[in-house]
Amino acid sequence: METIPLNSPDKEFIREVQERSGQNVLTCYQCGNCTAGCPYNFAYDISVSRVMRLVQLGQREAVLKSHSIWLCASCQSCTTRCPNNIDVAKIMDVLRHMAREAGYATERNIKAFGDAFLESVEKHGRVYELGVTASYVCKTGRFWTDIDLAPAMLPKNKLSIKPHEIRGKEHVSEIFKRFRERDIAKENR
Ligand code: SF4
Ligand code: SF4
Repeated sequence: METIPLNSPDKEFIREVQERSGQNVLTCYQCGNCTAGCPYNFAYDISVSRVMRLVQLGQREAVLKSHSIWLCASCQSCTTRCPNNIDVAKIMDVLRHMAREAGYATERNIKAFGDAFLESVEKHGRVYELGVTASYVCKTGRFWTDIDLAPAMLPKNKLSIKPHEIRGKEHVSEIFKRFRERDIAKENR
């Protein structure tokens, strides 16, 4: 079992998680309700209540390198069950962003899917399913993933050959551009 050095909390990490999520992680008293309701706990390497504890203890590396933050489905069950009204799902989301920024993406295929999805929304204003699939396959080499779903999706027009045309897609691209500029400005500060 890995030993965690509790005498050296990374206070900047705690502050950043609190600021970015708008949640007070210090009010978590480890009741375990979030873990009990988490549908993905069976697949997690660190349960969600333990993630909360590690954040309280300022354990940046242990948290950002965990697989759990990438396997989280953002279902909000933990948030709904928390007796201290902590938006735990939001914290998991923030941790995923921080892990991505720090270059820790322990579940590469999930990151690849997220990247393909966002690229599609930036380009087309909304998701273009076939484009996302093609991009995901190129990024991961997983050619036969979910191929068995195609016969059910095609007749329902869920995999249209061309991107859907929407009004104002250039405004959506602008949002992505603004976020990128904001990140560059933050890095140069
Ligand atoms: S939001 Fe994530 S951590 Fe919370 S219960 Fe759902 S899957 Fe689990
Ligand atoms: S439900 Fe809330 S208080 Fe209980 S362990 Fe999870 S985050 Fe902490």
